[in-house]
Amino acid sequence: MSCTKAILLAAGLGTRLRPLTDHTPKCLVPIAGRPLLDYWVEQLVVAGVKEVLINTHHLPEAVRVYIESINARGQLQLRETYEPELLGSAGTLAAHPQFADDAEEILIIYADNFSNVNLCDLLAYHHRHEDPATMLLFHAPNPRACGIAELDEQQRIIGFQEKPSQPTSDLANAGVYVFEADLYRQIAAKRVFDLGFDVLPTLVGKMRGWIWEGYYRDIGTYDTYLAAQREVVEWWQRAGRFQGCRPAVFLDRDGTLIESVHYLSRPAQVKLVPGGGEAVKQLRAAGFACILVTNQSPIGQGLITEADLVKIHNVLFEQLAQHETTLDGIYYSTQATQIKDRTVVEFYDRKPGPGLLFQAAQELQLDLTRSWMVGDMISDLLAGYHAHCQELILVDSGKGLEGVAIPPYLHPFSHQVSDLSAAVSLIL
Ligand SMILES: [Mg+2]
Repeated sequence: MSCTKAILLAAGLGTRLRPLTDHTPKCLVPIAGRPLLDYWVEQLVVAGVKEVLINTHHLPEAVRVYIESINARGQLQLRETYEPELLGSAGTLAAHPQFADDAEEILIIYADNFSNVNLCDLLAYHHRHEDPATMLLFHAPNPRACGIAELDEQQRIIGFQEKPSQPTSDLANAGVYVFEADLYRQIAAKRVFDLGFDVLPTLVGKMRGWIWEGYYRDIGTYDTYLAAQREVVEWWQRAGRFQGCRPAVFLDRDGTLIESVHYLSRPAQVKLVPGGGEAVKQLRAAGFACILVTNQSPIGQGLITEADLVKIHNVLFEQLAQHETTLDGIYYSTQATQIKDRTVVEFYDRKPGPGLLFQAAQELQLDLTRSWMVGDMISDLLAGYHAHCQELILVDSGKGLEGVAIPPYLHPFSHQVSDLSAAVSLIL
């Protein structure tokens, strides 16, 4: 029985994902509410891989907590190798020459890519041919920015060029390789730095390409990272994951559901906007879950406690009860923000990040693609957009845009109305 081990190359700094990677290691940035590494770990479990080496560098403590949580499940074992200075992709192999000793082959995965690739099928393809290596390939929309492979009719890689000015194909290196154990040992013994630069050129003519026709994304930049959030919702939709799920209306709190007060900190300051109770009642009667999503940086700043927030929200529930209605959930972020620009995702779980919406969708079985986001600020609209809500409504009853223009890519989904009652008329 063949044993496959894996190396997850996960130590990238993620500089182009700042400010998110200032406090989250790149390999743990959430996608649709789950850490990026989770998607690879799930694939490795399905492929029957039991032993995985993972390198760490930036914010290693957070990765260690994640590793412990995975190991506690017992499906596979993740073993950390900490690199105080980055060794390079080939350098990580060189530091572990014995890793292949009791394996048939080693899967090497650049964990900062994101894909639903079927690793079982990749390994099955590798077992069907005689060459010592297989490279996963994807169809690149921008071949000039990728490592491009040229294949013969047996799918053997007969040419490979990094960022070619005249690409011969659109088949790009996806950063996933299968190496036979012997080949792994030879590569480790070379003690070179980079797989792409120092190793791949030597494998031309000895390696096959396996083309993945499904989803693939390099989570290299802030923009591609945010695009991936919406793309995951699209695969969920195609896979029928929202069947039987309710649509939601995600409501911002201050300036949308309750009147805007500067630093609301006492229950006595809570007051539903005119028509607010009736609005929630109508939405719920029409089958929408009503979910409050609110940024609560005063908690992170130490100005109020979570217990204070519960008291504030209890008053909100009392006022809604007077209209014989309620909310289906309240989700809030607690981080204190450093960045004034309301369009920048600093924390995934803080609007304009989509984290609160994904969490609610997961816990309450909500269909994001039929949901609406209603808020008084640009950060509300963006949170709804990143979570793939179908429509976004800006109400004029709160802070407003504060001089920020709604970006053109939001225009097809955006509406602007006077207040929550008008938003409900639009939704219904
Ligand atoms: Mg607001």
